Amino acid sequence: MTIDKKALVINREACPVCQSKDRTVLFSSKHNSPGFLDFIKLEKYYGNSFYDGYNNGPLKDLLYNVAECNNCHFVYLTEVLSDTGMGLLYNEWLDKELLKVHYSKLPYSTYEETILSIIKKHFSKKEKINLMDFGAGYGNFCSIATKKGFNTYAFDLSADKNDHMDSMGVTIINNLEKFNNYFSFIWVNQVFEHVSDPLGIVKQLQQSLTDDGLIFIAVPDCSNVKKILGEQGLSQDLFRLVSPHQHINAFTNSTLKLLGTNAGLTPMGMADFFQLYNTKLNFAELKLLAKKTIKNSGFSTGIFFRKTS
Ligand SMILES: [Zn+2]
Repeated sequence: MTIDKKALVINREACPVCQSKDRTVLFSSKHNSPGFLDFIKLEKYYGNSFYDGYNNGPLKDLLYNVAECNNCHFVYLTEVLSDTGMGLLYNEWLDKELLKVHYSKLPYSTYEETILSIIKKHFSKKEKINLMDFGAGYGNFCSIATKKGFNTYAFDLSADKNDHMDSMGVTIINNLEKFNNYFSFIWVNQVFEHVSDPLGIVKQLQQSLTDDGLIFIAVPDCSNVKKILGEQGLSQDLFRLVSPHQHINAFTNSTLKLLGTNAGLTPMGMADFFQLYNTKLNFAELKLLAKKTIKNSGFSTGIFFRKTS
């Protein structure tokens, strides 16, 4: 690997949610500090090219610097991969064959199917419902959406994954400019913990929503990240929430809400749904909505948003 550290990383000098520069560093370690490699190795999908970059290239010189915003209390890594670095991470460092096996073994998601049936009822007056899965992974959600008759789009920059999706009748896009005011529903599941500029992305997504459109954003629930960092340090539990290169943003339900609000979205509550529904929901759908709008599971936190008018 010939790439130097400068091209590989960016420093986030302001909070990615509220843009305040006032912050407290909670924990800091170089990637080549004693014991840190064991923490990195908790990612079991790194292939040889990653370890080559670590042993012979600039990857060991990176800094794992966990900060908390003093304004909104968002917890995030300050030094993160640049777009170039992210490209290398998802196209070269992570072993794609291993990942494919991982995704193919994921159980069929009744949770995703229930959300889609709710959205279908919500927009039942529309002839065609344009839907986008942003950061589409290996296409499980898109495959359910096409089966349910949505006009399905997937946004994903990784070419390999895109090839995988093409065969399912999904339109692959990697640029939102042409899609202003276009999507009735946008699904963003377990994406924003990975991206360096979540606010910039939500602003773009807000623009691509129709005026009556809805967006569902879900991220890992990191409400206990400071407790875990304090009590367990560099541990498996911490790795699940804030890990080098991959989980660079640690959201809670309230910082996720703030992210949406700052991008021109309004979080929805249960009452909004009851007002909006023209078709009755079944018990499973109601239960899921209640879970997603009132109480979130400890593992993940998700919010429905609409455009702020
Ligand atoms: Zn902040």
